[in-house]
Amino acid sequence: GRPRVVVIGGGAGGATVARYLAKDGGGAIEVVLVEPAHRYDSCFFSNLALGGFWEFAALGHGYDGLAGVQLVQDWATGIDRDARRVALGGGGSVSYDRLVIAPGIDFVGGAVPGWDVASQQAMPHAYKGGRQIRLLKAQIEAMREGGTFAMIAPPNPYRCPPGPYERVSMVAHLLAQSNPSAKILIIDPKESFAKQALFEEGWQNHYPGMITRIGPDFGAGNIEVRPETMEIVIDGEPEKVDVCNVIPAQQAGMIAVDAGLTDETGWVPVRPEDMRSRLDEAVTVLGDAAAQGDMPKSAFAANSQAKVVAHALRAELTGSTAPAPRYLNTCWSLIAENDGVRVGATYAPAEGKITALDSFVSQPGEGAERRQQTFLESVDWYRAISADIFG
Ligand code: FAD
Repeated sequence: GRPRVVVIGGGAGGATVARYLAKDGGGAIEVVLVEPAHRYDSCFFSNLALGGFWEFAALGHGYDGLAGVQLVQDWATGIDRDARRVALGGGGSVSYDRLVIAPGIDFVGGAVPGWDVASQQAMPHAYKGGRQIRLLKAQIEAMREGGTFAMIAPPNPYRCPPGPYERVSMVAHLLAQSNPSAKILIIDPKESFAKQALFEEGWQNHYPGMITRIGPDFGAGNIEVRPETMEIVIDGEPEKVDVCNVIPAQQAGMIAVDAGLTDETGWVPVRPEDMRSRLDEAVTVLGDAAAQGDMPKSAFAANSQAKVVAHALRAELTGSTAPAPRYLNTCWSLIAENDGVRVGATYAPAEGKITALDSFVSQPGEGAERRQQTFLESVDWYRAISADIFG
């Protein structure tokens, strides 16, 4: 019969691979997508929803547009790589000729002492889309006057490098309107962060005096949280806060870890030409879960990688020719109304990894018109990428 490709994970990476393989494969390849959710709630643009610039409902996408893809609404619970079989939560299994894994991220256990997923109601991560983002917004809206919003930022590498700082901007935007004496405290284990000069300039301009960031020099590497009492403990000093957004250290989605595909970093090493696992020829891993080189963990990157993957698998399974691999990324961030910034690059395989070629970034001091243009560009991008992923 036809060769079968099983795709685990219907997010930015996996759904794009499934859709392109079914669309461009001319029916020569059987495509099975394993994804437990009926609806994908995108993390991308969730910060804008938090800030009131986007509807929560507009973050949701169904799978009806994936023509020719067999959808298995279930969890993949295990992978037998010798037998080439994926076990399903419902009890069955599905065999593959080639397996694609795009499960996104999971949190590293114990990364923030005092916090685990059982604490996510009191101290939300809001870093996997959906309900957690709405919960965080409700908590911000319920903050007492002059209260403190704290964010525990993650160490590198993590999903969406500018994401926590765009989030801080959106929280500041909300608070500036409804609770202007409130404070934002960022506890950050990193020396520096993505687009730092742009964010800091924007925070000074739009939210003067509201945002404080504590870096590793001031104890941010030595923190603990107490969800029961809403305390954070920096270098042994407890402090009461009103809202605490804990974004823990991250690793590849557990299904990739359990399949033995990750290395000591917790991510899956892949070949830069086609995102194939370095440990298993029959398995491709893309998106956030992959350790590929210079690309950030973003939906744009996952979608770009997916097209290279679809070309490579189609070429291998149908004897066609794949174009030379080229990758693209842009990460936009909104700092305040119409104040958009971006950073991006083109990439190609070189020196055994995906390597950045040309890059660009917004500049401090740009005019308002330019910033608005950048924001509008991001809105166009959201619509275009949603259609490209989900049909
Ligand atoms: P995901 O999109 O997370 O998809 C993984 C899918 O796999 C999920 O649907 C999940 O249900 C499924 N899955 C997991 N395990 C299993 C299993 N065992 N069996 C079956 N299915 C499974 N990126 C941008 O490009 N631009 C932005 O502006 C942007 N903003 C962001 C803002 C925030 C606050 C956050 C948190 C992220 C943002 N991102 C942005 C990053 C982007 O969301 C991720 O990089 C992207 O979703 C990664 O795609 P992925 O396919 O690897 O994983």
